[in-house]
Amino acid sequence: MTTNSHRERVPVLIVGGGPVGLIAAVLLARHGVRSLVAERHGGTSILPRAFGSNVRTMEIFRVLGLEEAIQAVEVDVRGLPLLLAMRTLNGPVLESVPFQNTGDPDDPAWPSPTRTIFCAQDVLDPILVEAVDRAELAELWFGTEVGGLRPDPAGVTAELTDRRDGTRAVVRADYLIAADGASSSVREALGIGMTGHDISAEMNVLFEADLSRALGAKRDSGRPGRGGNGGHGRSFRKAEAIVMEVTPSGCGGGGLGGKVRNTQPRQSKKRTAVAARLARPARPPRLRARRDR
Ligand SMILES: Cc1cc2nc3c(=O)[nH]c(=O)nc-3n(C[C@H](O)[C@H](O)[C@H](O)COP(=O)(O)OP(=O)(O)OC[C@H]3O[C@@H](n4cnc5c(N)ncnc54)[C@H](O)[C@@H]3O)c2cc1C
Repeated sequence: MTTNSHRERVPVLIVGGGPVGLIAAVLLARHGVRSLVAERHGGTSILPRAFGSNVRTMEIFRVLGLEEAIQAVEVDVRGLPLLLAMRTLNGPVLESVPFQNTGDPDDPAWPSPTRTIFCAQDVLDPILVEAVDRAELAELWFGTEVGGLRPDPAGVTAELTDRRDGTRAVVRADYLIAADGASSSVREALGIGMTGHDISAEMNVLFEADLSRALGAKRDSGRPGRGGNGGHGRSFRKAEAIVMEVTPSGCGGGGLGGKVRNTQPRQSKKRTAVAARLARPARPPRLRARRDR
């Protein structure tokens, strides 16, 4: 159910209603564990963000009966390059990165019943929300910020604030899942660090424009590239490299006549999170949901 009502006790409290938090709730429900997902935003992401669900992710979605719904809204990338690197949209292609290892379940040599699917988060997340809605043991509260965490040997106590009217609920949970994204305040509160390269110089710009004239045949003329993140990282590290695509200079003089919908700096300390764990002794998971709340 996607409702906001007061609760005082839940076996698992999940902080964050992004893909990780939503799927965690559905998987817990499948194992008979009740959970509550608290998401501070009023709905799912309005930004595309993650674009691909890899084969292992799709295998999990398949087990949960979500594969068909996701395939119905996937972007058909056949014949397209993953990335093109250019100084201007009508300039020469400096590097083209192809899609790799997306898989083909019809190929007897492919070791999976499914394949990589391309469907951005603003389309995928609502499908996951529907799955949470269908799961009787999962509950999702939008517009609810989790704070004031107090872990102890038996569980964790959290303060949930409804951002619409400021009302607060104190929730007691046996376990807490920190699915609150790359800038996780739970991770920081636990003193868990990050590893990986600094991507603070990167910026994403979401814009709507007719690119067909500016790109011409380049859209599907990818030449073999190095592939992988090496090409991606080098070609698109600097914000200017992306911003110029929507400015007149980036289009070789004419501009796109499009509309910038959103610019978003990638967070300054965003690095790969080291696996988060609660600062309390591990104990076996409870497999039956408790109904004494
Ligand atoms: C601009 C941008 C572009 C990206 N592009 C790609 C890409 O092309 N490919 C790719 O694979 N990945 C991409 N990513 C990364 C991708 O978005 C993440 O890997 C993915 O969202 C991780 O999912 P998540 O559920 O862990 O975190 P998130 O999707 O970030 O979800 C975390 C949620 O927790 C909520 N939250 C945080 N704190 C609290 C709190 N205290 N209380 C309640 N809720 C809270 C947030 O509101 C958020 O909804 C991109 C990210 C960004 C920002």
